[in-house]
Amino acid sequence: MIKFRFELPQLGYQLGDLAPMMSQETVSLHYDRHFRTYLDNLNRLLEGSIYEGLSLPDIVCKAPIGPLSNNAGQVYNHQLFFEQFVPTKHAKLPSGEFLFMVEQSFGSFDRLLQLLEKESMSFFGSGWTFLVVNADGEMKVMSLSNGDTPLRYGMTPLLAIDLWEHAYYLDYQNRRAEHVHRLWDIVAWDMVQSRMQL
Ligand code: MN
Repeated sequence: MIKFRFELPQLGYQLGDLAPMMSQETVSLHYDRHFRTYLDNLNRLLEGSIYEGLSLPDIVCKAPIGPLSNNAGQVYNHQLFFEQFVPTKHAKLPSGEFLFMVEQSFGSFDRLLQLLEKESMSFFGSGWTFLVVNADGEMKVMSLSNGDTPLRYGMTPLLAIDLWEHAYYLDYQNRRAEHVHRLWDIVAWDMVQSRMQL
C-alpha cells in the first residue's frame, strides 16, 4: 500500500522570479531546504500516529503542542507564504468586498500595510505575522511564535509573513522591517483575498 505523504507544493513562479525583493538564493534555501525539512519531519512524525490520513488543517488543529503540531504548523504557514507571491509585474492590489473590509477594519489599505510592518517589527524572536479574519468576519493583524498558526484559534489566515531569520537574513541581514516593506511589491492580493470566504 502506498502511504499518503504531504508534498512540496508547486510554485507559481521560478526561484529567481521574486528578486530583488527575495533573491533566488533565499527562495531556493527557504523553499527547498527549510520548507522541505518541515515536510519531511511532518511525514515522518505522522507515520503510524492517530493523525495519519487527516487533512493538514485537521492535524494543525488537533495535534497537541509538540513536534508534530510544530512541523504541521510550519508546513501550513509555508504553503500560505509561498503561494501568495508573484513576480512584481504581476502583483495586484486588493479590490471589491475585500478592500472594503480592509478599509472598514484599518482605515485604508496603506494603514494595513503600516500595521503589518509595525507588528512584524515589534514581534520578538521567530514566528509569523498574519492578517486574519475571525469567525465573526472581523479582520485583524496578529503574530504567533515559532510554527503556531491562527487556524488553531478558529481564525482564517489571509496573509502570512515569515519572521524567521532564514526568510530574510541572506538578503537583508538584521533589517527585518526593510524585508517586510519590500514584500509589498510581490504580494498577489488577488490570492490573499481569495482565502476569505466572501
Ligand atoms: Mn520559513
